[in-house]
Amino acid sequence: MDTWAPVDDGSGFTLACLPYGVAGGRVVVRIGDGVVALGDVLGDHQWRDAVEADSLNPVMTLGVDAWSEIRDRVTTFLTTSANERALTPVGSVELSLPFQVGDYVDFYSSIEHATHLGELFRPDAEPLLPNWRHLPVGYHGRSGTVVVSGTPVRRPNGLVLDGEAGVVRRPCARLDIELEVGFVVGAGSDEPIAPDEADRHVFGAVLVNDWSARDIQAFEYQPLGPFLGKSFLTSISAWVVPLAALAPFLVEPPEQEPVPDAALQATRPWAIDLGLSVDLNGATLTRNNFRGLYWTFAQQLAHMTSNGATTRTGDLFASGTVSGWNQGELGSLIEMKRPFLDDGDSIVLRGVCGEGANAVGFGEVEGTVVKA
Ligand code: MN
Repeated sequence: MDTWAPVDDGSGFTLACLPYGVAGGRVVVRIGDGVVALGDVLGDHQWRDAVEADSLNPVMTLGVDAWSEIRDRVTTFLTTSANERALTPVGSVELSLPFQVGDYVDFYSSIEHATHLGELFRPDAEPLLPNWRHLPVGYHGRSGTVVVSGTPVRRPNGLVLDGEAGVVRRPCARLDIELEVGFVVGAGSDEPIAPDEADRHVFGAVLVNDWSARDIQAFEYQPLGPFLGKSFLTSISAWVVPLAALAPFLVEPPEQEPVPDAALQATRPWAIDLGLSVDLNGATLTRNNFRGLYWTFAQQLAHMTSNGATTRTGDLFASGTVSGWNQGELGSLIEMKRPFLDDGDSIVLRGVCGEGANAVGFGEVEGTVVKA
């Protein structure tokens, strides 16, 4: 099966991907360097109103059977009679935040990252706290400051412990990044969601940069965890990659020891073979793969709902910083032991599964630091 739409070699936006975004108040689908409006694909279908919206939420609320039918219709549209007039160059549209973010949770599910940060923040103790291998540790973040790729990153002010000067309010001097992957809930639930039910609830995935003010974080975080050191901004990519596009890249996760609680056990493979990278001012700092994450997104969703907490359309949960054991695989500057961000620095996170005509690209999430 081939598309009439031009798709350059090396583009992640293939017929296998077909991610959703929002441009000009309409839901659009990306193919190559073009977009088509979902309303133009569906014609006078009953779901037309849902797609003529300035967010993906009405589409996501329709549920998994509708997501599947819509994806089939887009595929048919792009593989049958050529209709180049339906394509708009992506460079000529302004992409907005693709969905209204409901509740936002950030996890901490890379054993490499948790070990590195434990060593840095608590040098005299065991780096992994006793709970870490028993449940996916996380915290509730701030959904109102989740922004789309390209939004400037204003350096935050905060109270920090500044040597002999004591506690002072000043611009963050240790502005950092966190390379993460986020998952958006399409169909919410009033019931706990078992790991193997994740694909009935999760609509798709995005790249996430969890900007982190390490000096603010280091002073404030005990005993209740991250707060203002994280809440000033979180950037996500403009394209939501449907979970259906990721199905061919689901793989077995790393072995877990001890065996997790029954509510966190899956029989299907939920790790994702997804290559990730971090660029600083055009130079690549990190290349890693998401498949090594200790806790899968399906386990995260199961844990998040296991206490009876309900989920709603637009809820976003992020993986936690994706790091490996080696320099060159680290997902934050603090782990790399390199200088923190200066005003004017630009960070780009990228992600792609597979290659060639089967590639499924996430595109990028970019942010440039501006002065406090
Ligand atoms: Mn984080």
